[in-house]
Amino acid sequence: MTDSPPPDLNKCLLAKLTDDDARVMLEDTLWPRGPICPHCSTVGAWAINGADTRPGLYKCKSYPCRKQFTITSGTALIGTLVPLNKVINGIRLYIVTDTKITAADMGRVLGTTYRTARLLKRRIKLMKLTESQRARLWSGI
Ligand SMILES: [Zn+2]
Repeated sequence: MTDSPPPDLNKCLLAKLTDDDARVMLEDTLWPRGPICPHCSTVGAWAINGADTRPGLYKCKSYPCRKQFTITSGTALIGTLVPLNKVINGIRLYIVTDTKITAADMGRVLGTTYRTARLLKRRIKLMKLTESQRARLWSGI
């Protein structure tokens, strides 16, 4: 935890994030210098902006990698079906309670089942966010 007091919990959860806002916030936090390919660690990628393409899909600029990835690729969040706005709020709950929140409480606050909250909490723990990354996730409030 940082030395500064954590922001008000209710304020943080009242700040309604769209899934897109949450994705951008997570990208800014985990990729402060631009997208990083999880396959070859190259910094730099093209955003794929097709009509049928889901937002947040990138293609590595490095030849011969050129693989597609998203912010969750290569992280503990890969394959999660939990919307990213709930992931962000889950991370905030995890931080503000100094990792002591129970999965049942997290599920109640986020509006997910106990099982979903338990898996999300495990993924958040595995992310091993740095202090500056934690601070960045607060800054969007
Ligand atoms: Zn690559």
